[in-house]
Formats: sequence, structure tokens, C-alpha cells
Amino acid sequence: MASPTASQKTVSDDDEIDYSVKPEFYDPKLDNKDELWVQKERKDRDSDAVLTCPACFTTLCLECQRHEKYLTQYRAIFVVNCKIKINQVLRPSNQKPKTSNKRGRDRGGVDEVGVSTKETFKPVCCVVCSTEVGVIDDDEIYHFFNVLPSES
Ligand SMILES: [Zn+2]
Repeated sequence: MASPTASQKTVSDDDEIDYSVKPEFYDPKLDNKDELWVQKERKDRDSDAVLTCPACFTTLCLECQRHEKYLTQYRAIFVVNCKIKINQVLRPSNQKPKTSNKRGRDRGGVDEVGVSTKETFKPVCCVVCSTEVGVIDDDEIYHFFNVLPSES
């Protein structure tokens, strides 16, 4: 259905980040814990959480909005302790039509960037440990998908 044409030519000079690959710090136990967190959060509140780095627990965002569909993904405008890799631009290709992947049961939604537009994204990292925690889009909106939510 989806032809893989013309998706390889738009990759920037830097390595393209493949979100289907588990990051080095991936920890299945942590993933389960995170899943429980999400479920708990879902019952208690519809939105708003403090987002922290999954690796060093540094606070990254105090005010965020949960994604409507991707429950482990948050978007925010004001963040703290985040740095943007300005020399690395992500160009989401349309070669991953994972519409049937429901919340990424096996990897906690790490690869669910949830982008289907033609926007460009820059990786956003934790300033403390440089763990990649999300991306920022053309409108300077942060999209966090590799964070630990906690109650504010
Ligand atoms: Zn960190």
C-alpha cells in the first residue's frame, strides 16, 4: 500500500533517528512501571502532569497536555532542563504506517511519535544526561514521548 519511494532522499546529513529501535537505556521493568503510571494517571486526571527524565528524573516540564490518542505522549510549550539538537533535524517519513499499533504494548510507546504531517522536528534532550525525551516542531511545541509523568 505505502510505497517506500522518495522517503530516503530527504534525510538530513546526520543520522536519521529510527524510533522503532529501542534506546540504549531501555528497561522493560521501567516500561511496565511507566505503563502502570499511565493507567493510574488516566483515572485520576485527564491532563496535566509533571514530566521528568526517564533516566535521571530531572524535571522537564511542569505544564503539559496529554496527547488525545497517544497516552504516553505529551505536548508542551514551556519546558525546563531541555536542550534542542539544533543541528539535527528529523524528517518523519511516511514509511511507518503503524496505525494498528495500539499504544505500543511491547515498548511503551517509545516509537509512537504520532506524527503524520510533513513538519520537521528537532530532537529534544535532557540537559543533565542527554537522554532524548522528545522533539520540538516547527511551531516550537514540544512533544514528549520518552518521559515519566508524575502528578503535579
Ligand atoms: Zn536526564
